[in-house]
Amino acid sequence: MALVLKNTDLKELAQLYDRISMCTQCGNCKYGYEYGSTENFAAMICPQGDKYQFEAYRGSKGKAALAKGLLSGMIQWSEKTTHVIYTCIGCGACVEMCETDIKDYLLRIFEALKGEAWKFNMGIPEGVKKWSSTIGVNKNPYMEKHEDRLNWLPASVRDSLPKKAEYIYFAGCTASYRQKNIALATFKLLQKLKIDFTVTPDEWCCASPLLRTGQYNIAKEFIEHNRELPEKYGASGFITTCAGCYRTLSIDYVKDPPEGYADKFGKMEGVKVIHTIQLVEDMINKGEIEFEGTFNNIVTYHDPCHLGRHAEVYESPRNVLKAIPGLKLVEMYRNRKFSFCCGAGGGVRGGFPDYSVETSMKRVKEAETTGASIITCVCPFCWRNLNDAIDALKSKMQMLDIVEILEPIVKRK
Ligand code: SF4
Ligand code: SF4
Repeated sequence: MALVLKNTDLKELAQLYDRISMCTQCGNCKYGYEYGSTENFAAMICPQGDKYQFEAYRGSKGKAALAKGLLSGMIQWSEKTTHVIYTCIGCGACVEMCETDIKDYLLRIFEALKGEAWKFNMGIPEGVKKWSSTIGVNKNPYMEKHEDRLNWLPASVRDSLPKKAEYIYFAGCTASYRQKNIALATFKLLQKLKIDFTVTPDEWCCASPLLRTGQYNIAKEFIEHNRELPEKYGASGFITTCAGCYRTLSIDYVKDPPEGYADKFGKMEGVKVIHTIQLVEDMINKGEIEFEGTFNNIVTYHDPCHLGRHAEVYESPRNVLKAIPGLKLVEMYRNRKFSFCCGAGGGVRGGFPDYSVETSMKRVKEAETTGASIITCVCPFCWRNLNDAIDALKSKMQMLDIVEILEPIVKRK
């Protein structure tokens, strides 16, 4: 049946009407598999479908059908509608399976659906409402004071930060307020690598949680603020160890749809955005890094969705890990584009904490089957959710960011 656009009040969604109508409801996106592959990969890759099972929750098929129903007026908004939308983690695994022209717009459609939900104020998770109501003041979704943002640094270092530098280390909210171990390890690593960088108290949330939950009006102010920072500090770009910040700064600030939001907020131009792991890989390739010690452990790497599927950075972390003396890298069954999400993104960790950790527990159990003793990643948000799962499971595994592995054993030649 052809889709007739009736509900034009849903402005964000209506703009995507042409794309939404391209979903054939084939159902390919409900499960991950690879035909033609000698490895015969087949696995559940949608954490939302795995948890809730019903058709609306499984892969992008259900959300596309919902969007069609809402736009045609056949479905009215309800708390259940919001639940279907807000339990999607935005991990993008379903996108990998779609072969029609809706494919590249799916993540944007999910975010537009989340955005429309605010108009109805029915069923938006309390946890999301809570941080949303304070982020404008605090500049972070953790309800922490903005003036405490650099507390992960010793006061003496904070006071001596250069006012101008080639790069700004953009720590992001999770590393600044929760996983300070990663912010500090990155800071020390960049110092050891003799990178000309600074850290700024002017850093605000990159806007990832706002964009991923369709809160465009608030996101605008954050993007406009952060993109001015390089000029203010005479910097040519940002370095970040956060997958979410990397996706947002390098894609949302820069690219037009379907990937980014530059059509809405304007483009950040002439600013480099580098993930720390890309910087290290580049320096290893140029022979600029020397290892002073070994890391004699079996390690498995978890692909953060925002770095892997969203930004297609799969090999840089693996190349760095393979270069570390003594380290043995083993893969989980679901890896790279078929990686299973840690369960934290898309507003899910704040909105549905139990489901979020239940998802990361599935990932930790998968990691346990590899024989590794350490799970590594390059994202403070994944680190946090996976570590909570390790605690909940009383698993013997340990969580370490790659920068935490690198920092004690590298130096610049
Ligand atoms: S989103 Fe793509 S893969 Fe999923 S049902 Fe629609 S057309 Fe098929
Ligand atoms: S983005 Fe992730 S959680 Fe959402 S439907 Fe797709 S695979 Fe499932």
